Amino acid sequence: MKRPARVSILGATGSVGASTLDVIRQGNLNGPAFEVVALTGNTNVKALASAAIAAKAEVAVIADPDLYGDLKAALAGSGVEAAAGPAAIVEAAERPAETLVAAIVGIAGLPATLAAVRRGASVALANKESLVCAGTLLSSEARKSGARLLPIDSEHNAIFQVLDRPERVEKLILTASGGPFRTASVQEMTSATPEQACNHPNWMMGAKISVDCATMMNKGLELIEAAYLFDVRPDQIEILVHPQSIIHSLVAYDDGSVLAQLGLPDMRTPISYALAHPHRMALPGLERLDLAKIGRLDFHPPDMQRFPALQLARTAVSAGGGASIALNGANEVAVAAFLQRRIGFLTISQVAREVLDDFLDEPQDVAPESFEAVYEIDRRTRERTINKLRLAA
Ligand code: NDP
Repeated sequence: MKRPARVSILGATGSVGASTLDVIRQGNLNGPAFEVVALTGNTNVKALASAAIAAKAEVAVIADPDLYGDLKAALAGSGVEAAAGPAAIVEAAERPAETLVAAIVGIAGLPATLAAVRRGASVALANKESLVCAGTLLSSEARKSGARLLPIDSEHNAIFQVLDRPERVEKLILTASGGPFRTASVQEMTSATPEQACNHPNWMMGAKISVDCATMMNKGLELIEAAYLFDVRPDQIEILVHPQSIIHSLVAYDDGSVLAQLGLPDMRTPISYALAHPHRMALPGLERLDLAKIGRLDFHPPDMQRFPALQLARTAVSAGGGASIALNGANEVAVAAFLQRRIGFLTISQVAREVLDDFLDEPQDVAPESFEAVYEIDRRTRERTINKLRLAA
C-alpha cells in the first residue's frame, strides 16, 4: 500500500490554511491519504492548537515567541510538539515533507517558503508576495534543488491546469472579479471602511488579500506572480474583469484557441489540484458548477482610473530590479494602516504610487542578487512608507 503523502501547512490558521485542512480531511476519507507534519500560525494559539490536535500534526509552531507557553499548555497531553518564533517556522518548513503549503500572508512568508524550496519540496504556493518580491531568486533556487512551485492562487492554478504547450502561448488572461468596489463611485471609495473593503462578493479570504482585491492591487500582484511562474513578458498578460468568478483564467495560443478552467469560486479545488498533482483528487462534498443556472457570464476591461494599482504593478514588473519589492512593501504597510483606520481607502494606492516613484527616481542597482538584499529593500520601503503616512496624518 502507498504510504500517505507528508504535508506541512504554513499559515494553517488562515483562510487558505483552513481550506487546506479540509481538503486533507477529505483526502483521508476518499483518498489520497495525507499525513500532517507541521502547522504554523502567527498569534492565534487556540485555532493552531485545535487544528494541530485534530490533524495529529507532529509539531505546531506559533510565530510570536511570547505565545510559546500558551501553545505548550494548549497542546499538553496531545503528543503534538510545540515551538515558537520565526526561526522555528523556518525549521518547520525544513522538516521532511513532500509538500509544503505556503499560506502565510505577506513577505513574512518568504524565509520559510525559501527553506522548503531549498530542500527540493513541492511547494503549493498561496503566498504570492514571496514570488512578487523574490521571483527570480526563488525560481533559481528551485531549479538548483529540483523543487516544484505549484500555484494555489485560483487564477494561476487555472492557467497551470490548461497550459500544455508553453512555447505556443500568445497571452495569459487573468480574470478579476473587480472586488467589492467594481461599480462604486470615487466618492464611495474615498469613504470606504475596512468592513466594506473586506466584503468580497465571491470569495471569503483573509483581511489583507480582501483589501488587495478591493484596490485591485491583488490583480497587480498576480500579474507579477504570473510573469515569474509562467516565464512570460508582462505585456503578454491581460487583465479581464469577470464579475461572476466562474472562469478562473485563460490561456490564448497562437492558433487562435483559448483554453479556460471553470468552477465555482471555492479555494478547495485549486488547493486539491496542487496537493494531488500530477493526479486529481475527488471532492464529493463540493457544490458543482451549473452553467444553465448561472445563465450568463460577463466580461469587461478594468477601469485603470479608479484602480491605479494595476498600472503600478505593470510599471514595477517592467522596471525590474527591486521595484516590485518596493511596491509590495508600501502596499503591505498601507493596507495594515487602512485596516487600523489610520488612512483612507484611496490613500493605499496613492502612497504605493509615491513610494514606487521615489524608488524608481533613485539610482538603480541591478536586480537584488541575494535574499538579504530583498529584505533590505523591503525594510527601507516600509520605513519610507511609514514616514509618508506620518507626514500625511
Ligand atoms: P489569512 O490572513 O486568512 O491567514 C494568514 C496566515 O498567515 C494565518 O495563519 C496567520 O496567522 C499567518 N501569519 C500572518 N502573519 C504572519 C507572520 N508575520 N508570521 C507567520 N505567520 C503569519 O490570509 P489568507 O489565507 O487569506 O491568505 C494567505 C496567503 O494566500 C496570502 O498571500 C494571500 O494573498 C494568498 N491567497 C489567499 C487566497 C484566499 O482565498 N484566502 C486566494 C489566493 C491567494 P494568525 O491566524 O495567527 O494571524
